[in-house]
Amino acid sequence: MSQPLCEKCAGLCCRYLALPIETPEGKGDYDDIRWYLAHEGISIFVEDGDWYINIANRCKYLNQDNLCDIYENRPRICRGYEEETCDYHSGDYGYELYFSCIEDLDEYLAKKTQRKKTKGKKKN
Ligand code: SF4
Ligand code: SF4
Repeated sequence: MSQPLCEKCAGLCCRYLALPIETPEGKGDYDDIRWYLAHEGISIFVEDGDWYINIANRCKYLNQDNLCDIYENRPRICRGYEEETCDYHSGDYGYELYFSCIEDLDEYLAKKTQRKKTKGKKKN
């Protein structure tokens, strides 16, 4: 972050980390995700079929002016941010699924179970 647009930005890309997680397959896996979602600052999203955990957590090197204190030595993930496509433009990320709390996930699972039941009935 120190392209022209970054000067106007609040360091949006420096306030979270997103990591891939295993695609949940069974009840236990979904329950683990419920546990993630019970914590502050955690959300889960699915993009191109892959599941990710998003952790809202400000980078220690983002300074009071919202600029990077270790710019020349920043990690490669930070170097990958391009101002044309970065979080500054936010809006719709096109996630297939997004859960910000346990209730979101429970609702999704209830609908999924309902769909399975309906499908089962159609076959009978
Ligand atoms: S979100 Fe974009 S504009 Fe903002 S600091 Fe990151 S790279 Fe710069
Ligand atoms: S190291 Fe610098 S560019 Fe990378 S997240 Fe932290 S403040 Fe942002």
